[in-house]
Amino acid sequence: MLKKVEDLTKKTSVSIIQTKAPSRLENPKDEVTISKDIKVNTLPQDPLVSEVKTVEIPQEEAGKNLIGKRVVTQDRNNPIAIADPDGNYFYALSTPQFDQVNAHNIAYRTLAMFEKLLGRKIPWAFAKEQIFVLPHAQEGKNAYYDRWGENVSFFYFNSPELKKIVQTSQSQDVVSHEGGHAALDGLRPGYLYSFDKEIRAFHEAFGDITAMMLALQDEDNLDKVISETKGDLTKESLITRLGEEFGKAVHLANQDPNDDNRIYLRSALNNFKYADPNTLPNSNDENTLTGEAHNFSRLFTAAFYDILTSLFKEFKNQNLDDKTALTQARDVLSKIFTYGIELSPRNSGTYNEIAKAMLSAEKNIFGGKYKEILKNIFKERKILSLKDLEEVDHPLPEINLPKINISKGAINLLKQNLKRLNLPENINLKVEEIFTNQKGETFIHYKFAKDIPLDKSCGRYQEYSVNLSGGVSLAFNQKGKLFHFNFDPVSKEKISRNILGLKEIIRENLICRHQGKGGGYLKGNNQLYKAAYMEKERKIIPVPVID
Ligand SMILES: [Zn+2]
Repeated sequence: MLKKVEDLTKKTSVSIIQTKAPSRLENPKDEVTISKDIKVNTLPQDPLVSEVKTVEIPQEEAGKNLIGKRVVTQDRNNPIAIADPDGNYFYALSTPQFDQVNAHNIAYRTLAMFEKLLGRKIPWAFAKEQIFVLPHAQEGKNAYYDRWGENVSFFYFNSPELKKIVQTSQSQDVVSHEGGHAALDGLRPGYLYSFDKEIRAFHEAFGDITAMMLALQDEDNLDKVISETKGDLTKESLITRLGEEFGKAVHLANQDPNDDNRIYLRSALNNFKYADPNTLPNSNDENTLTGEAHNFSRLFTAAFYDILTSLFKEFKNQNLDDKTALTQARDVLSKIFTYGIELSPRNSGTYNEIAKAMLSAEKNIFGGKYKEILKNIFKERKILSLKDLEEVDHPLPEINLPKINISKGAINLLKQNLKRLNLPENINLKVEEIFTNQKGETFIHYKFAKDIPLDKSCGRYQEYSVNLSGGVSLAFNQKGKLFHFNFDPVSKEKISRNILGLKEIIRENLICRHQGKGGGYLKGNNQLYKAAYMEKERKIIPVPVID
C-alpha cells in the first residue's frame, strides 16, 4: 500500500523499527460449518468518507471468533472479537474488535468477489486453506501481503493532525488492496517470482483496481459516486480516491503545504501514457509517472477507470439512469478484467500482456461488443501498439481438447500442435496447472524455467544466478475448442528486464540473506526487502512480500 517511503519516514514522529515481520499465532481450530447468514458491522469505504453499516455475511466466513473457512483473524494485542449468541458481530467503531471484524469481512469479500467472477475456487499461493489477517500488526505507515508468512498485515499510526490513531484495517481501500495482492498471488504466483518492475507495478494496480471494484459493490457507494460526480465520472469521487484517510494523514504531516488538500494516497485520474518503467526515474512524485511500482501502477489503474467511464457513457446513451448505468459498467468491466487475469500468461503480467488478455476475455464473454472501447483506451494510453491491436484479432488454429484423461495427455497435445501454434520445436515444457471452471472451460498451463547466470555488473552477486520462468497457456471452451492461447518465452528482452529490476534492488539495498519463510523481510522504515540471496545455492530469488 505504501507510496512514499522517504516522505513517510523522514517526516513522521512515529518511529517504527522492527526487523522481524509479525508472524501468525497458533493454528486455528476447526470450525463447524453452519449455513446461515449473520450480521456484522463494517465500513463500506475508507473511514474518512463512509459510515459504519451492518451487512449480512455467511456464518461460515466468520464462525464464533473470526475463524472462517478461508480467512482467520488474529490479534496479539487485543482480545479477539466474539460473536453474540445469535452469531452476529456488533462492535462499535472505537473498539479494536471492530477493526478485526472489518478487516476480516473485507478480506473475505475480496476473495468471494473474485471467486464469483471466475466461477472457481481461488487457492492461496501457499499450501493452506486459510490466510491470516493481522489487523493491528504493528505501528507504522504501511500494510502488506506476505506469502511466506501467509498473512495480510495492517499497521496503525498516530496522526496528530487528524487527532486520531489511523488504523489501516479500518480502510476498505487498504484491506481490499492487500487482499487483492493475496488473491492475485493465488491466481498467478509467478508474478511475484519476477524481478520485472512492470509486473510488480501491475500487482499494485491490481490492488487498487480491486479496491475500486469492491467499493462499487456497495449500494450506498454507488449513490455517493453519482451524487458526488453529478453523473460525470471524469470528476473525482470516492472511487477515484484511494486510501483517503491514510493519504490525508500523510499529506498533512509532511513539510509540503501544497498537498494538504489531497485526500488520497493515489488517484485513478491522470493522463499518463505508457513508457518502459526501466527508463523512468525511481523517485515518487504525484504529477510525474516514475518507475516506482506504486507510482507506475497509476497508469494501468487509470486505464481501467477510463474503461469504466466509457462503459458508463455507453449505457447512459442507452437511456439507462445513472445508477443502473454505473452498475452495468461495473459488472461488464469486472468480468472482463478478472477473466483477463485468467487468460494472462501464468508467469508474466506486463501491462501489454494484461491488456491483450482483457481483449481476449471481452471477445469470449461479450463477443466483441465492447472491443472498441478497450482498444481505444489501451491505444490512447500507449499500452497497446497498432501491431498489438492487429495481433489480437488473429484467428486461432482449430485445436480440440482430446477426449482422454487430459492430465496424462496434456504434453502430447502440445507436442502435436507445436507447428500450428508457431512454437519452437525444442521447447521443454512441464504441465504446471490444469483445471476446469464452473462454465466447463478447461485451462492448461505449461511451464519452462531457465537459470540465468549474473555477470560482473551485479557486483558481489556476480557468481549468483536467477531462475526465470515462461510458459504456454491453452484454454478450451465448453465444447472442447481452443479459444485462447499465449506463449511467454524467456526471451532476451525478458532476461534484460529482469536483470535491470534486480540491479535496481541491489542498488537500493533491498536484498537480504534468505531467512526461510518465517519472516524477517521487513527492512524497517516501512520498507520491504524485494530479493533474497541464498549463499550455499548461489541463487537470488524475489521475496513474495508486497505492500
Ligand atoms: Zn500494494
